[in-house]
Amino acid sequence: MRLVTVGTGTVVPDPERASACHWIEHGGVRLLVDCGAGALQGLARAGLSWGEVGHLVISHFHTDHIGEIPSLIFALRHGLEVPRQAPLAVWGPAGVERLFSAWANALGSWLTDPGFEVDIHEMRPGAVAEMGGIRVHVTETPHTEESVALRFEAGGSALGYTGDTGPSRELAEFFRGVDLLLAECSLPDELVEDNHLSPERLARLAVDAGVRRVALTHVYPQLRRFDVPELIRRAGYAGEIVMATDGLALRI
Ligand SMILES: [Zn+2]
Ligand SMILES: [Zn+2]
Repeated sequence: MRLVTVGTGTVVPDPERASACHWIEHGGVRLLVDCGAGALQGLARAGLSWGEVGHLVISHFHTDHIGEIPSLIFALRHGLEVPRQAPLAVWGPAGVERLFSAWANALGSWLTDPGFEVDIHEMRPGAVAEMGGIRVHVTETPHTEESVALRFEAGGSALGYTGDTGPSRELAEFFRGVDLLLAECSLPDELVEDNHLSPERLARLAVDAGVRRVALTHVYPQLRRFDVPELIRRAGYAGEIVMATDGLALRI
């Protein structure tokens, strides 16, 4: 698999970091995970073939993860030189169908009927979805009522994505042995609340899960003032730590 961290920011407007958006490809499959503000420009800037996205996966309904989805569908409808025929599969937690029909009510029926098929699938915690050669496992996270974390497996490799999450023992089991954990690391330990990770919490998760490599995303400005990898190392994690930036490409 190839991962490009398209948007590594948060809800905070940032000149260098778009809100959450990540690109995964494997063989001919192109998959977009979350699509927050700035995602479309980020895809273009990274030179990614956004028009070929086959699967859109949503971790939860905070706007820094879904805010640009209507614009993505509008771009797929009007922004391609050759009109799109291929269906778009949308995978989201409980409530995703309600979300799309509310958007269609507010913005127009094109949102769910843009001239190509939009197939909406609800992912329940514990479910396994097949996305064209990528197998995706789903589990709940302590963040919002519907929020999920994801584990992508293809070609003998595994990539974990925390989405947004508070600390959870179950997550360590879920991510056991992944080759790369793309993890939120929102706030300093002194400021973090129950619904996000901090350097100490992430170190514990990565150690407990036996993960050799971690890529950090969703880092708020309050934490970026520090040397975040150093804080995680000091908290006991000895694996490789990558501070993800917008457009960074990683092989898994
Ligand atoms: Zn969130
Ligand atoms: Zn978020």
